[in-house]
Amino acid sequence: MTTPDEPPQDKPDTSTARTVPSLVLVNTGDGKGKSTAAFGTVLRAVAQGWNVAVVQFLKSGGWHVGEEKICRDLGVDWYAEGDGFTWDSTDLDESAALANAAWDRAKELITGGKHRLIVLDEISYALTWDWIDRADVVAAIRNRPETTSVILTGRDMIDEIVEVADTVTEMRNVKHAFDAGIVAKKGIDY
Ligand code: ATP
Ligand code: MG
Repeated sequence: MTTPDEPPQDKPDTSTARTVPSLVLVNTGDGKGKSTAAFGTVLRAVAQGWNVAVVQFLKSGGWHVGEEKICRDLGVDWYAEGDGFTWDSTDLDESAALANAAWDRAKELITGGKHRLIVLDEISYALTWDWIDRADVVAAIRNRPETTSVILTGRDMIDEIVEVADTVTEMRNVKHAFDAGIVAKKGIDY
């Protein structure tokens, strides 16, 4: 949708619009904002009184500690099975095992039906590198409880997930401070 040249005069036609009990969202692309958008949605869900869970699939060791604390304080169930291993460890088997542990947890949460929003943060890498079973993830999402919404984040989300999603946003990198030699900023990046 592009912005029209003139302010719209007519009300949009919503006569065929419907409500759904849940949605699947994907935040992907090479620009900043994938995880922060997911955490912003967590705030909305908490504000609506929903049970929310977050599962981090990678580089969680120390990275999202601020979000983790505040989310836990808000009653969000937070899991970080993949703790830091990908970048700290060259042992790929171990990374794959951790990703699988994270997926086992995520699957348990999805099938459990306790949560109305589940964030699978940075799951795309585990899917791209085939550390976790793609078909299993797609099936779990397709067969999720009716009122459980799921947000999946990470660059290069695989087509199978894009296909099952209702809303897919690709953050495009126009420019990033990092490229000008600026390190991650407290309060902005973590
Ligand atoms: P954020 O957590 O800030 O929403 P993200 O989830 O979109 O970022 P990730 O790939 O998970 O992006 O990387 C997280 C970190 O990498 C953040 O510090 C973010 O600022 C930084 N980052 C994101 N995109 C880029 C980019 N295009 N170039 C350099 N650094 C980036
Ligand atoms: Mg991220």
